[in-house]
Amino acid sequence: MSQIKSYAAHSPTGRLGLFEFDRRSPRPDDVVIEIQYCGVCHSDLHNVRNDWGNAQYPMVPGHEIVGRVLEVGPEVTRFRAGDRVGVGCLVESCRHCKACGKGWEQYCENGATYTYNATDPIDGTRTFGGYSEKVVVAEHFVLKVPDALDLAGAAPLLCAGITTYSPLRHWNVQPGSQVAIVGLGGLGHMGLKLANAMGAEVTLFSRSPDKEADARRLGADHIVISTEPLQMAAVAGRFDLIIDTVPYQHDVNPYVPTLATGGTLVMVGYLGPLEPAFNTGPLVFRRKALAGSLIGGIAETQEMLDFCGQHGIHSDVEVIRIQDINEAYERMLKSDVKYRFVIDMTSLKNSNEETAA
Ligand code: NAP
Ligand code: ZN
Ligand code: ZN
Repeated sequence: MSQIKSYAAHSPTGRLGLFEFDRRSPRPDDVVIEIQYCGVCHSDLHNVRNDWGNAQYPMVPGHEIVGRVLEVGPEVTRFRAGDRVGVGCLVESCRHCKACGKGWEQYCENGATYTYNATDPIDGTRTFGGYSEKVVVAEHFVLKVPDALDLAGAAPLLCAGITTYSPLRHWNVQPGSQVAIVGLGGLGHMGLKLANAMGAEVTLFSRSPDKEADARRLGADHIVISTEPLQMAAVAGRFDLIIDTVPYQHDVNPYVPTLATGGTLVMVGYLGPLEPAFNTGPLVFRRKALAGSLIGGIAETQEMLDFCGQHGIHSDVEVIRIQDINEAYERMLKSDVKYRFVIDMTSLKNSNEETAA
């Protein structure tokens, strides 16, 4: 076991602060990773604030991890010390159910193990995430970061990237597809870049007119202000696929008429009941679908990283120190981030010992 430094939340309302805990000694198939950067996902905020009702404290968030391999267990074959690697939202799954067999570890029928706020199925210990010095992860769940990618800009690919890549691939986006992304934040900006690189004609739905120039630079061909009924009416019947990244309850009915016949609206942001009530009529009369999607499997995550390496796709990041994480959460709540905070984990070594509240 090794004692390491981290930043943890101790309650839904307190500030995150310095926390020390033990990481397990590496098992034969484990990779020990020195964390260099960790992205800040809106899910970190949902988890810390217990929006999903399953928070366990202390909680060390962070599931957009990149770094360098420090050591490997004797059964590890694909990695060695010094390799550039990543870890996303998953650190274990049963590996034998139907979903795991298809490479859909995120949908493991026996329960996938998340990188933090979960229980390790092998030793029963709690999992702690990437706002920390090191992580120990089974080889199967470790990704190779292509040399072409800058490490800080690659970190958000491990969650924001794969969460938008997976539905784009699943719904067969290709040149000529009409794709729309709802919400220009961490996931949204990756959705624009990836859909654009796949050859789709890309539209952003946003509440924020001031994001228009950025959206075009990030890969949007069109911007629709979702609060403007005339703009919404102008794109009626257009989209094969809409990916909705908005984190909070919102009215999704207005997006359905903008789907083409047979099109799909995929929810990846908000989890919970829809208000106002969802009207199924417009689905039925045009064979439209309302769907959900969760991150992506491990092989697909590697495919996405390789795709980003080939196309030079990074996240647009604002690099912060771990000491700035509480302010970063406040800014994320105001949609004041362009377009992902990434923590430079060397700042943890210089931590001036702010303790958790
Ligand atoms: P983010 O960076 O905060 O971006 C969210 C964007 O949604 C904002 O920039 C804003 O864009 C829009 N928005 C925010 N609040 C809104 C509201 N009340 N009504 C309408 N629009 C709003 O968040 P993120 O990191 O991209 O995460 C987005 C959501 O996806 C979170 O709920 C997160 O938990 C979830 N998530 C899901 C998965 C999955 O596997 N399904 C994986 C990762 C994250 P505009 O200013 O352009 O409107
Ligand atoms: Zn995430
Ligand atoms: Zn499984």
